[in-house]
Amino acid sequence: MSAFSAIGDGQPTDQDDYTPELEPQATWCPGCGDFGVLKALKGAAEELGRSPEEMLLCTGIGCSGKLNSYFDSYGFHTIHGRSLPVARAAKVTNPGVEVIAAGGDGDGYGIGGNHFMHTARENHDMTYIVFNNEIFGLTKGQTSPTSPKGHKSKTQPSGSAKEPLRPLSLSLNAGASYVARTAAVNPNQAKEILVEAMEHDGFAHVDFLTQCPTWNKDAKQYVPYIDVNDSDDYEFDKTDRREASDMMAETETALHEGKVLTGRYYVDDSRPSYGQEKRAIGEMPEEPLAERYFDDSYEWER
Ligand code: SF4
Repeated sequence: MSAFSAIGDGQPTDQDDYTPELEPQATWCPGCGDFGVLKALKGAAEELGRSPEEMLLCTGIGCSGKLNSYFDSYGFHTIHGRSLPVARAAKVTNPGVEVIAAGGDGDGYGIGGNHFMHTARENHDMTYIVFNNEIFGLTKGQTSPTSPKGHKSKTQPSGSAKEPLRPLSLSLNAGASYVARTAAVNPNQAKEILVEAMEHDGFAHVDFLTQCPTWNKDAKQYVPYIDVNDSDDYEFDKTDRREASDMMAETETALHEGKVLTGRYYVDDSRPSYGQEKRAIGEMPEEPLAERYFDDSYEWER
């Protein structure tokens, strides 16, 4: 969170506080990894005591974009690839709000790739969850930026000729101050990582492996997975950029060889966030620009 404290009592009673009447089964397919993201997010919000009115969830377009239909908080379902600029504006004007942006690999690494790079570079204080199922799901399985080389789809029937994008490495090199990968099949780790990401001051990028059994049938289910922070086979210092970079490179290569590595890869608690830097040089007021969420008389309505 930012230097500003959020409003509200911060004490939701349980996960029902984030559960609207609309059920995700209405649109998400059975076995979809998106359910795991929703579960982890509810668990993290509950653990941190964030009430729905303290949170803003900005989503892009795709199956993942429906997340804010199933998570009760303030929400903004943006256009394709544009969750990050909306989230940035919201955080700048309401520094006390817990801002989360979310979208798929096609939405965030493809359509919105430029925003991803520059939001990381500027270290905006937010959590960015990318549902990475290595295809475009909602539009029926087209090749995405993270599809492995050789992956066959309707748009690449002979197999993709391109090397996939490496999102962890890209994020690190662009300037993100927290970078992690988790998987929908690992709900405990996923929740812990989202808790850390939401507590982190700066851009926290969580690449969330989410299986798509409907359109990516040949792809892995992301099991078994290995937590690189808990395994004796992997040793690196996640506060050291070079060691983190090497570990990310190994992880991203391993995924396309069928080995699923997850964990926290890079954590830099020393770098100020965009808002902190702007306030330090006097380009942003100390007080929030928007008062609405800080007005006790404002009544939260579902
Ligand atoms: Fe999930 Fe794939 Fe179904 Fe979309 S199409 S809801 S990503 S399983």
